[in-house]
Amino acid sequence: MLSKIPFYPFLFVTHWVFFLFVYNAHESIPFQHILLPWAIVLSSTGLFFLILSIFRKKLGWAKIGLLTFLFAIVLFIKPHLYTLVELKIPIWDKIPDRILIVCVYLLLFLLGIIILFKHVSENTTRFFNLFSVALLILLYFQYLEKKNGNTSSIGFNLTTTKRFEKVTIPQKPNLYYLILDSYPREDILRDLYQYDNSDFIHFLQDKKFFVADSAKSNYMLTYLSLSSSLNQMYLDTVVVNLGVNSIERAPIYDIGTNNLTVLTLKKQGYQYYHCSSGWGYTNSNPHADKQFYSSFMNEFNELFYKNTIFSHLESKINLSRVSSQHRFNRNIDSIIANVQQNKSPLFVFAHFFPPHPPYIFDENGNLPKFTTSLLASKGHSNRRLFVQQLKYVNRKIKELIENICKYDPQAIILLQADHGMNSTKQMDDEKVISDSLMFERSAILLAFRIPHLKDSTVLRHHLTPVNLFRIVFNELGFPKQELLPDVSYFSTYDKPYRFRIVEF
Ligand SMILES: [Zn+2]
Repeated sequence: MLSKIPFYPFLFVTHWVFFLFVYNAHESIPFQHILLPWAIVLSSTGLFFLILSIFRKKLGWAKIGLLTFLFAIVLFIKPHLYTLVELKIPIWDKIPDRILIVCVYLLLFLLGIIILFKHVSENTTRFFNLFSVALLILLYFQYLEKKNGNTSSIGFNLTTTKRFEKVTIPQKPNLYYLILDSYPREDILRDLYQYDNSDFIHFLQDKKFFVADSAKSNYMLTYLSLSSSLNQMYLDTVVVNLGVNSIERAPIYDIGTNNLTVLTLKKQGYQYYHCSSGWGYTNSNPHADKQFYSSFMNEFNELFYKNTIFSHLESKINLSRVSSQHRFNRNIDSIIANVQQNKSPLFVFAHFFPPHPPYIFDENGNLPKFTTSLLASKGHSNRRLFVQQLKYVNRKIKELIENICKYDPQAIILLQADHGMNSTKQMDDEKVISDSLMFERSAILLAFRIPHLKDSTVLRHHLTPVNLFRIVFNELGFPKQELLPDVSYFSTYDKPYRFRIVEF
């Protein structure tokens, strides 16, 4: 009896969601993030199945099963369209994406008609039921294999936290650590983007910021860069354990989440306020005493959304971009509202995704107007749109800093990019590496404001983020740490741990 009922459409959509999860396992996506997409695919498939089952006497279970399966394919066909578009067949470039998509849907529609009028037997149902179970079992083994391949012991020893525990620091000013993803250095904006950012830099200097005008990032990828700066060290030990060919992110996410700076400050009585970034391990933090803007739009939901039929509607409904806009504005407003309440001691961490693409702001904070296409959405960055977005980011960050300086004048503010931009090339693989790409990707905005700075030798123009919290901790009266040599390690997404030193 059971084999007559077509349950395979549900197993197929389950497989599809879990496949995304397993396929991206190296990105350490929390399991609970897949629950919403899973519920959506199950309920939409279920609803379609229920509607069809009204006509079960006419259609029979076998046809209902196949039609439901077809419906699920139509909803979640997008990844396969990408595969089609990315095939390097010359004629593809000549066909607009829309026509290609319409053709695929027409084909599926025709298939549906054939199913309706052709005899489909119980054997079809039996076959697909078995096949879907087999697929899920296979996926489970793939998951186990990936999981066993993980380096769970990272060989990283936070002995330094112990060193800091013995002291109680005399002054506890509020600390603001603001990260603007991919914010380029002033000279890069001038030379590559033809944009004069001196107005913003002068604003910072007026507010007593030191701006390191030759600053570089230590790493070129967000998770490496932030794990390094938050732990005040290079990642050599962790990386040695992983091996240069690994793409595993879990250990880096782990030390980024449970980082030296946060753990030490919390032991000193600091409250930790975390702004949700919507990305990776800076999306949320278990040590946070307060979290600003936790949205359902996390990284996995974005991934799911972009891989379904719904993403074709993005140019109309802008769900993804509007939610990113909202996140940025809300986070800044929340920090400002909080500053005005005068609480202390506080450590505020905010990893802002803009000015990094996608382009969600024009210079007035509205959605920019541009046409999207499957190919363009995977293409390189658009410098004009980037500058527009950067102008709006400048405006909001100015507003934020004005408020901090006004209501919390003793606050220490660290403002930096995690890495630079890559406007000429994607960073997918090693073949694209060039001197100009390495230069652009490593040159970052880096500025800090420490009122009553005692040690002025730290005002180095070649400063890198790994030393920022070393400087701050020294100023706060923790046991003195020497500054590390400022080194910049370049690597790409496909070989994140194969480093080459950027020498400029
Ligand atoms: Zn980044």
